[in-house]
Amino acid sequence: MPIVLRRFTVAASLIAVLTLFGVLLQESKDGSSAEAAVRYELKAKPQQKWYRGNLHTHSLWSDGDDFPEMIADWYREHGYQFLCFTDHNNIQESDKWVDAEKNKGGPEAYEKLKKRFPEGWIVEREENGRKQVRLKKFPELYNEFTVPEEFLLLRGEEISDRFEKYPIHMNASNIQEALPPLGGDSVYQTMQNNVDAVIAQRERTGKAIMIHLNHPNFGYAVRAEDLMKVRGENFFEVYNGHPGVRDSGDENHASTERIWDIVLTQRIDKLNLPIMYGIATDDGHSYHDIPSRASEPGRGWVMVLADKLEEETLILAMEAGQFYASSGVNLRGVAATDKVYELVVDAEEGVEYKIEFIGTRKGYDPESEPVLDKDGNEIHTTRRYSEDVGEVLKTVEGTSARYQFQGDELYVRAKVTSDKKHPNPSELEEFERAWAQPVLGPEGLAKQAKDR
Ligand SMILES: [Zn+2]
Ligand SMILES: [Zn+2]
Repeated sequence: MPIVLRRFTVAASLIAVLTLFGVLLQESKDGSSAEAAVRYELKAKPQQKWYRGNLHTHSLWSDGDDFPEMIADWYREHGYQFLCFTDHNNIQESDKWVDAEKNKGGPEAYEKLKKRFPEGWIVEREENGRKQVRLKKFPELYNEFTVPEEFLLLRGEEISDRFEKYPIHMNASNIQEALPPLGGDSVYQTMQNNVDAVIAQRERTGKAIMIHLNHPNFGYAVRAEDLMKVRGENFFEVYNGHPGVRDSGDENHASTERIWDIVLTQRIDKLNLPIMYGIATDDGHSYHDIPSRASEPGRGWVMVLADKLEEETLILAMEAGQFYASSGVNLRGVAATDKVYELVVDAEEGVEYKIEFIGTRKGYDPESEPVLDKDGNEIHTTRRYSEDVGEVLKTVEGTSARYQFQGDELYVRAKVTSDKKHPNPSELEEFERAWAQPVLGPEGLAKQAKDR
């Protein structure tokens, strides 16, 4: 029996692979097949490769507990091709010395550094009778670690701002000059001001710089209604591996996925703004004693499909939706025509997958209401929307799936959940997942054409 079952699974996935990886065919209602124009395709062409990267990393330059070269080394040795350092409000450019023993990683961090980089790399000094180590600056790290087509370090900054008591953190990848947090007179305006500054730097320097909103549920700071309005903010963290950022929300607070669906629906239907892409990151701070319950590397990443391992190429690819977010599940590819959206998992032996297609259809109930506490006061949180928003349109158990557009979808996205437990989860009972990017549905396309 098991052999027969396995053969069946392989055959079924082969058929899907043939349609996605050969010519994408669709079946019309009369049963005939017709070739359809592919309008979104995340599938490796001959000159392209998948590059795995983490866009959210802390080191001793801010509140991480290890030297940046040890962190870069960890990622290089764990199957990543790129890493962006994003310390809080700095870009690793000043002269910064840390005590060899009294630093966030303690004497252990220093001992490990000396062991891994024994000859002539570490710069030390004595200050008031204490040994200090100079932190490597970004150009030194870049020169040491970057190997063409193998590994690339990006310079980044976690622009760590706040409005009143709400922390608002945004990551700028491939930033060229430090950007101090600008503040603002609301959560929305604080995000907009920082996004505008990144866009201005991009225009001035001519370098591709990408900004994304981090962990919206950290301090339950950023509501869907704040995020949806921000112009130039087209990425956010649907998954952040820090255990304190509450991706799943709670009874009064929407999960990051729910926020995503509300944002997508409003942007397409009401705001005439681009769709927002979801990314997964580690937000690593703790690099010793892995695994534990701290914020550790290796939990969530992006897989970017690009022609080469280079800053601008990676960012432009992501802006074109040529990537997916993952906390363990790999995808072979995703494709969409005007009729179908399909996805193929790069399946692991012995692992089962659930593929969900999620979207909002025309005619959805647009009403929402505030969330109230037990005294009837409004809570600072995403409003409650109808279940029509971000509805699960189809669920398939298997390694590939196809969703046939009904014609009234504003957008559709796909999420894959495996039955394999995450080896080092940020939340309890977490299974490995992948998030494919949303594509406009027929109704979303019509809306966009009309609004333009
Ligand atoms: Zn943060
Ligand atoms: Zn962070």
